[in-house]
Amino acid sequence: MMEMPSGQAAAIAVTGNDGVSGMLLSLGPVPSPIAAVVRVPGTAWQISSAQFNAALRRRNAIGVMVEMFARTLVVQLQHVAVCNALHSVEERMATWLLRMHDRVEGDVVPVTQDAIAELLGVRRSTVTLAALKLKEAGAIRSHGRGSIEIDRKRLEAASCQCYELMSHRIDGIVSQYGVKNSRRHAMSPRAEWLA
Ligand SMILES: [Zn+2]
Repeated sequence: MMEMPSGQAAAIAVTGNDGVSGMLLSLGPVPSPIAAVVRVPGTAWQISSAQFNAALRRRNAIGVMVEMFARTLVVQLQHVAVCNALHSVEERMATWLLRMHDRVEGDVVPVTQDAIAELLGVRRSTVTLAALKLKEAGAIRSHGRGSIEIDRKRLEAASCQCYELMSHRIDGIVSQYGVKNSRRHAMSPRAEWLA
């Protein structure tokens, strides 16, 4: 999340078992307006900045993985910027749900509408309206306290092109490192978007 002095915030990237946070430490100790927020329970490893930089200097597997993730992060930032400028709230919401769904098992995304509002940088009432539209389209089956059950295929249809284009580019990068696509629910590409 990028936080503004006004207190407003919006999401700029998402990561799960595919990446790291705090990666800019590799460029030097700089104050950052970015806050890493845990939205979905899971397990993560934590390492001190000194140990992290020492590991990077040794050019071991951590360095290679950080380089790979840095490249995919740039792709994420590019697509989030374009998506925010060009696409509707429900399209953006569908895209964020797909990206979170890629990092969880099953069809239930453990996220509240308040959290979605923060991700998108919009009011809660705007998210409620977007959720209603996605439900009418069958892309959201139900949403209760703290979770949203999705219909993956319909959610893909309701999302903007950003999810697919971004995922395709990221898959291309990770494949260069011999890493299998880490998404759990990869969609089959639609050729006309990727030509
Ligand atoms: Zn978009």
